[in-house]
Amino acid sequence: MSLLEVSGLHAAYGPVRVLHGLDFVVDEGEIVVILGANGAGKTTTLRSLSGTIPVDGEVRFDGAPIAGRKPEDIVRLGMAHVPQGRGTFMDLSVDDNLRLGGYTRPVSEVEEDKAHWYEVFPRLAERRDQAAGSMSGGEQQMLAVARALMCRPRLLLCDEPSLGLAPLVVREVFERLAEVNQRSGTAVLLVEQNANLALGIASRAYVLENGSIVMSGSADELSEDEAIRRAYLGM
Ligand code: ATP
Repeated sequence: MSLLEVSGLHAAYGPVRVLHGLDFVVDEGEIVVILGANGAGKTTTLRSLSGTIPVDGEVRFDGAPIAGRKPEDIVRLGMAHVPQGRGTFMDLSVDDNLRLGGYTRPVSEVEEDKAHWYEVFPRLAERRDQAAGSMSGGEQQMLAVARALMCRPRLLLCDEPSLGLAPLVVREVFERLAEVNQRSGTAVLLVEQNANLALGIASRAYVLENGSIVMSGSADELSEDEAIRRAYLGM
């Protein structure tokens, strides 16, 4: 049994159908990337999993059906979502953002977890009293990831962490994601247009086009695929 099992996933915004029956899985502890161009349905896929939009089809997390459940229930079951645009509270300090991220945890564990993530993200430790909104884009992205990790998820959903960041910063964000995965065994489902770096840290990938999965395989296989190289790797 995989940690996340999705079959026949459909989603729509009103009359506009966006996802047309997706089937995919994420195993415990692995990093999986969904690649796709603008408008392919990547964000919608993550929203479907985290309960923020209504869906049809089957979504099982750790064996339990979760389609149709409320977002806060899904967080409590162990799936955390880092949305595009990052979802941090801009007026609050880094420290308060992390504390809020741990809202599902017993208070006694929150300080311990903050200390742990400050160790993994030293830049956040240096800026713990700074307002989130006054930090750089890369720092805000790391805060968004750390905040989501505060609920000790077994699966982290990450929506285009490279968006709007300079190449060097993107590299650092991806390195941190890989480190988090290795240190805590948290599985990561990443959606990205930046295939180069995403395939570099993922073990497997799916390619989404117009709301359907058109290709899947190991990250190594897809990195070497001619069509993928042309469409997503700029080669
Ligand atoms: P991008 O890489 O540009 O973020 P994406 O692959 O994440 O794209 P989605 O954001 O999932 O794509 O959008 C898929 C389709 O759904 C697009 O055609 C988009 O216009 C449409 N869509 C997204 N959000 C809404 C909404 N709230 N209401 C109506 N249509 C929407």
